[in-house]
Amino acid sequence: FIQLEKVNKAYGELVVMDNFDLTMRSDDRLVIIGPSGSGKSSLLRVLMGLEGIQGGTINFHRQHYIVGDKAKKAKIVDANIQKKIGMVFQHYTLFPHLSILSNLILAPMKVHGLEKKVAVEKARALLARFGLESKIGAYPSQLSGGQKQRVAIARALMLEPELMLFDEVTSALDPEMVTEVQSVMMQLADQKMAMIIVTHDMHFARNIASRVVFCANGKIVEQGHPDSLFTCPKEKRTREFLEKVL
Ligand code: ATP
Ligand code: MG
Repeated sequence: FIQLEKVNKAYGELVVMDNFDLTMRSDDRLVIIGPSGSGKSSLLRVLMGLEGIQGGTINFHRQHYIVGDKAKKAKIVDANIQKKIGMVFQHYTLFPHLSILSNLILAPMKVHGLEKKVAVEKARALLARFGLESKIGAYPSQLSGGQKQRVAIARALMLEPELMLFDEVTSALDPEMVTEVQSVMMQLADQKMAMIIVTHDMHFARNIASRVVFCANGKIVEQGHPDSLFTCPKEKRTREFLEKVL
């Protein structure tokens, strides 16, 4: 489904991906863990086409999607692939001046040329699914953090992505709101959505991951099924990291 081959990325002198290889199947839910600054967010931003890579290739369904290039901007070979990827960030990125409904229907109408009526129906259905029907006319400032993140997920789903990227989407939330957002993600997992999740919540990681990937210094140190990686990590660096966070 997705293949990263020998991907190199650096910010100036700072290498964040060093001949980085990763493969993912369409039914995988990868959870990326690693120390702060290890390049987890960079990986997601690269996959989203928000930042360029200096070397290597990224394939999607065996088609070239992004290739290494000297330019700072991502060299996207196939822009249609980019539309199949959705991303949710740590901090709410809803448009503050637009209602929840407008937040949801804007991109599908622009990007996919969806008719307004169809887009509104779709938005309504998604909001209902996430228990947010009553908020359709509200503005982001009138929502709790957990509600905003669920709307952000719904907004990404409006474009019917094949892959969803989540970058610490519950890190900025009060504890009581974490569960409601995580349960929406579990719902997507049950529906076999391909996901790459960056989280510091190891309990959630264990519940949702089909595979956990531990990264450090621009490389994958170790990866495996959550049951084996969390209980008997093979690498010393993984053990040291887990001792600190578990
Ligand atoms: P955290 O767990 O703290 O979110 P992370 O694993 O997501 O960390 P990244 O945000 O990918 O790490 O950053 C990796 C490294 O690259 C860090 O040292 C960071 O300071 C640096 N970095 C990130 N973005 C940029 C940028 N736009 N320009 C320069 N350096 C950057
Ligand atoms: Mg990060």
